[in-house]
Amino acid sequence: AAMRKARIKRTKTVCTYCGVGCSFEVWTKDREILKIQTKTEAPVNGISTCVKGKFGWDYVNSEERLTKPLIRKGEEFVEATWDEALSLIAENLSKIKEEHGPDAIGYIASSKCSNEENFLFQKFARGIMGTNNVDNCSRYCQSPATTGLMRTVGLGGDSGTMEDIMASDLVIVVGANPAESHPVLATRIKRAHKLHGQKLVVVDLRENELAERADLFLHPKPGTDIIMLNAIAKYFLDQGWEDASFLQERVNGLEEYKSSLKKFSLEYAVEKTGLTMEQLLRLVKMIKEAKSVSILWAMGVTQHMGASDTSTAISNLLLVTGNYGRTGTGAYPLRGHNNVQGACDFGTLPPWMPGYEPVNDETVRAKYKAAWGVDLPENPGYDNHHMVEAISKGKMKALYLFGEDMAIVDANSNYVHSTFEKLDFFVVQDMFFSKTAQFADVVLPAAPSLEKDGTFTNTERRIQRFYKVFEPLGDSKPDWLIFQELANRLGADWNYQHPSEIMDEAAKLANLFAGVSYQRLEEWESLVWPVKADGTDTPLLYTEKFAFPDGKARLVPVDWTIPFDPGADFDLHLNNGRILEHFHEGNMTNKTEGIVHKVPDVWLEISPELAAERSLEDGALVGLTSPYGHVEVRVIVTDRVKGHELYLPMNTADDNEAVNRLTSSYHDIITHTPAYKEMGVKMVVLELS
Ligand code: SF4
Repeated sequence: AAMRKARIKRTKTVCTYCGVGCSFEVWTKDREILKIQTKTEAPVNGISTCVKGKFGWDYVNSEERLTKPLIRKGEEFVEATWDEALSLIAENLSKIKEEHGPDAIGYIASSKCSNEENFLFQKFARGIMGTNNVDNCSRYCQSPATTGLMRTVGLGGDSGTMEDIMASDLVIVVGANPAESHPVLATRIKRAHKLHGQKLVVVDLRENELAERADLFLHPKPGTDIIMLNAIAKYFLDQGWEDASFLQERVNGLEEYKSSLKKFSLEYAVEKTGLTMEQLLRLVKMIKEAKSVSILWAMGVTQHMGASDTSTAISNLLLVTGNYGRTGTGAYPLRGHNNVQGACDFGTLPPWMPGYEPVNDETVRAKYKAAWGVDLPENPGYDNHHMVEAISKGKMKALYLFGEDMAIVDANSNYVHSTFEKLDFFVVQDMFFSKTAQFADVVLPAAPSLEKDGTFTNTERRIQRFYKVFEPLGDSKPDWLIFQELANRLGADWNYQHPSEIMDEAAKLANLFAGVSYQRLEEWESLVWPVKADGTDTPLLYTEKFAFPDGKARLVPVDWTIPFDPGADFDLHLNNGRILEHFHEGNMTNKTEGIVHKVPDVWLEISPELAAERSLEDGALVGLTSPYGHVEVRVIVTDRVKGHELYLPMNTADDNEAVNRLTSSYHDIITHTPAYKEMGVKMVVLELS
């Protein structure tokens, strides 16, 4: 027993699922993962985890892991050496760059990989390949929230930490389902609500678990949240209940904003949102009586055509009511993936260098030229949406994507698949032979977090360290090492021995991370950016100044964008999202036996009213058709959804059930985030239960 104990290794790691950023120890014996052990030192979660963080690690040793590079030969893939695969990539990327220019290649980064890997990938795209065509999956989720905050308060991140959310008098959750998508955060909210008298409002189409516990649950018509938000802000201003001194001292643009609200009376809001006057006034009263208000939101807001504007309206309302810069206040877009915040922060966005320094700013480019010895491209590049369009039009010839299953997660997937087929050259780097890999020319085997060192940044802007537990499986390699080896084949002379050296470089170049270093992130230590050179971090933003040159926030007028409606034939509204047990599209959780045993299939939630109307019971098989595709799924009848509204979880083991077979290419007008939540479908019954 003593010997066995000696062979058990305990390593601190950070969860690879959602943006809450739980940390814990993983206990291993050789490659066997024995258990996840929580520690009170964990800054976000303490002794809590959810089912995914606790049990969802089978994917690391899954037999489905890629262990060798693969090269396409006709319809087949054959195993290759790293030398063969990297030579082929270097040769093809160089040829395409030479023939069609650097912008004929797109680079899609991963919100599941580390900050250092995202930094190096954008360095590869910009510094070696000469293009700003680099984006990440925040394009599918949180870009509109980032835009709403950058416009109004200046930084695209949560205003405070979870401690601030816990300290709020009133928490308003709009279009988010934390009990399933951010479970440990939801647990903390439930505790604050139950034990400390915190008030809770949930605004959603679906009466989710948090909604059931809320003091007020509001179910507006799909795509009308902005009307509710603008109307409440107007009512505060009309009544003279705004925080006048806060607006006077710290905010610009009040007069123009006021006049933009003219049409947003409460009566107009009642008409358009379907909420009652009583409900709206109750919400007004709760905001007015609360000493501190925080607003949390996620995909129910950001996956609409008017998503950036609705995110802006949330921030406007917080400004009008003086709810920024104090403990318990602020805006909290809930980041979905473990490192979606970090992927954006470290530069995998078309207009931004690391730390949100603009690529089209000469002084920023000069700084990078001095460090990297190359001229950087000046014009902001293509985002994911533009890349798909450019491929479709034959302007973009090649794509390099890592740690992202775009073939399943991008909207209107039948169309996306047809564009992938037009690529001259496609590199996919992943742990698994994903749906996207099926379209690739070269597939590179990547290593998960337990097989490498690095840092992730959670939804709070908190940077945390994870440690290598064992060697990469087979011939797979850490993503950062793959980028380095490829860059060196293309003429670079990179010689990073460890991810800490990549972080040192990022800290030197990007002001936001000036004081970030691995020494300051040892074990359970963490830093919440911005981090000054002396290591002082910033858990709560905007206490004195907003992040604009004059230090003042900006009220930005925003109007309602009428949601996409495919017409009367498509009579049911289709909503979609996550469930507790599976993560996102399910690529990782579908490899965990216990989770698959508990939740093997995807199902469609329908309301009791619709079930009665169509004579359906649990287990009936239905076909859903949109103008873009068709899926067949079994139904479950639940009063969580109402009337003609449906809910289809996005995780799937069977691509033919994937919700993105149905979604459209309509998107947020500013950031191009797909309007996943705006879809009408028709339903036929295929088999009664
Ligand atoms: Fe992981 Fe999120 Fe669950 Fe925490 S709440 S264990 S970060 S999936």
